[in-house]
Amino acid sequence: MTLKKIEIGENLFVKNDEIAAENRKVLKEHNIFSINLMGGPGSGKTAILEKLIPQMKKRKISCGVIEGDIAGTFDGERISQLDVPVVQINTGGACHLEAMMIKKGIENLALSEIKLLFVENVGNLVCPAEFKLGVDCNVTVSSITEGEEKPAKYPLMFSISDVVIINKIDLSEVVGFNIDRFTDYAKKLKSGIVIIPMSAKTGENVELFADYIEKRILNNEKN
Ligand code: MG
Ligand code: ZN
Repeated sequence: MTLKKIEIGENLFVKNDEIAAENRKVLKEHNIFSINLMGGPGSGKTAILEKLIPQMKKRKISCGVIEGDIAGTFDGERISQLDVPVVQINTGGACHLEAMMIKKGIENLALSEIKLLFVENVGNLVCPAEFKLGVDCNVTVSSITEGEEKPAKYPLMFSISDVVIINKIDLSEVVGFNIDRFTDYAKKLKSGIVIIPMSAKTGENVELFADYIEKRILNNEKN
């Protein structure tokens, strides 16, 4: 039997990077700051957006959302309750978003009316880190129920992130999470990483994240 070897991996990535660069250009032209929100299933990505988007509205920063899921519109429906434009992308099996999907999402949003674009990636701590989307800022959500060793076990995800949100801190007493250990692991991967302990449920520290985003938007406008 002959062995057929088909090399597509590298080309796929090259193509992805090209489209990511196009996305970046389009978003820049429209003066949109964009955030790729990553994290495991159930870490609280959508719950964070539900608390964060009203905060951004208060600051007169108009938002748009691209929701990535393998199937279903559960998250898209939750976000649309906030009265912001949202595009739900179903990957049909793929466990991450790719630049082409963001391109499609962008084409379906009124970009001139948006200042801040959230992309909620498919719940997964592995391959979303491998696919550039063309956004300005990578954020990983890790909840304390997932354990404090997550950065050490999924190094790529944390090493490409600007911000890590440690969610569900309202459960600290029950879970017994060692935040210093988590922080040490994360800082070893990226010394300048910003760590925000948060409870999307109670709203604790959501404002800190809103402050961070507002600052990044202001800096972007200066440059
Ligand atoms: Mg979600
Ligand atoms: Zn994947």
